[in-house]
Amino acid sequence: MNLVWCAALKETRKLTPPACNIDRKRASQCRTICGMKPDASNGIRTVDSVRLAVTCIFSKVWRIGGMESQSILRSYKFRIYPNAAQRHQLAVDMGCARFVWNRALAFRSESYKLRGERHNQVSLSKLVTQWKQVEEMVWLREANSTVLTQALIDQDKAFANFFAKRAKYPRFKKRHDGQSVRYQLDQRQIARNFIAGKLLRLPKIGTLKVRWSRVPSGIPKMATVAKDACGRFFVSFTCEETVEAWPATHQVIGVDVGIKDIAVTSDGDKSGNPKHLAAKLRRLKRYQRRVSRKELARKKAGRKTSNRHRRARIQLAKVHARVAHARNDFLQKLTTDLVRRADVICFEDLHVRGMLRNRKIARVLGDAAVSRLITLTQYKAHWYGRQILYAGRWDPTSKRCSDCGYIHSEMPLSIRAWTCPECGVSHDRDINAARNIVFYATGGKPGGWAPAAPHARGGVNPPEAATSPKDSCETRTEASHATSRMDRVEA
Ligand SMILES: [Zn+2]
Repeated sequence: MNLVWCAALKETRKLTPPACNIDRKRASQCRTICGMKPDASNGIRTVDSVRLAVTCIFSKVWRIGGMESQSILRSYKFRIYPNAAQRHQLAVDMGCARFVWNRALAFRSESYKLRGERHNQVSLSKLVTQWKQVEEMVWLREANSTVLTQALIDQDKAFANFFAKRAKYPRFKKRHDGQSVRYQLDQRQIARNFIAGKLLRLPKIGTLKVRWSRVPSGIPKMATVAKDACGRFFVSFTCEETVEAWPATHQVIGVDVGIKDIAVTSDGDKSGNPKHLAAKLRRLKRYQRRVSRKELARKKAGRKTSNRHRRARIQLAKVHARVAHARNDFLQKLTTDLVRRADVICFEDLHVRGMLRNRKIARVLGDAAVSRLITLTQYKAHWYGRQILYAGRWDPTSKRCSDCGYIHSEMPLSIRAWTCPECGVSHDRDINAARNIVFYATGGKPGGWAPAAPHARGGVNPPEAATSPKDSCETRTEASHATSRMDRVEA
């Protein structure tokens, strides 16, 4: 990842005026690639998948080249209300897709263990065709065939993620978890099956009743129908869209991420922490106890499941969903606000995964969803032409006086406000830290640094700090977050 990024940086340096003559031809190619026909690696997926695609090297070049709009992949998710027949067909599709996934996974694991064979979607889809011929599995024919193929393709991706150490070994899918199936939308007939904000028709299922909460501005190639654990249905898809960079604000903002306030900015704004999980924790615990009790009773009696058990589980899932939705809503609004306000947003390079290992703060920290906050800011910043910089993990952001630069030797967490012994200025702990984050992230230049680089209309070279691998906001993922400490040692 970092190697790729370094290469990318070299490219951008080469291309930044006035030295861009060397590769001007190449830059125009990039522009063509990005502007006309961006490939999948040029966009970032959003919402729940929470996986940042590695951004195309070109898109960086292209922005510094001065263009202000770009192609992105934006995800949409809408609630749908399928009728009884549609629910039945969806259940068939989901069941078959799950069956194919599980069986293919078992086959894959076993044939590797026993014979050292490796399989992929191509070899497995032949197998699925064979299964359809077998009498016990003829019911597989009732499902949409694209759904089954897609399950195998998804499994290939799951394995690729596992081999790249981004994910754990793929697991079997359970009947009672959330279910999802993906439909390929035939692009030759797309005009008949998709009208943004009006119509969505899926193969074998027909026209769905969709709650169009907003109107997508692109055409999807695929649609995922998901059923969550409370039994609600959603459709989600990604569209290729062009976004315009937001007008420059000439502001640099530092964000101190914490537990008391999820985000405190250098200009003194405190977001507060709504603690969605904590607010529902008692209820969650109670509902969870009910589910467990019924589970136990079920096991004792040797029954498979009961209606009461099912109802209890749905009740629990609804509370979980409410927590997740409230948290998502809060974070989306907060991050959009941050990106709207400043051209350059500075964060501290936190080791979230390491902090989550601390059991005392894990729940509170997980509830605050710190890494999601950063991920969301990253992709929004990328879309709207903002830049993200990082202060070092070991920079004394809390101990330093942001006015005179005096550095305390100790600063226990209990101290929320203090007065500088050197210059006598009173500081709020978090706001002071946010100011210091700006200081360190922008390379320790007194008075901050003029944000000419992100829009770079005149082709100003960003300062050294901005070109360190830390500013690779678009290419940073959870994984690189964890390894960035090692990078520092090497540096
Ligand atoms: Zn001071």
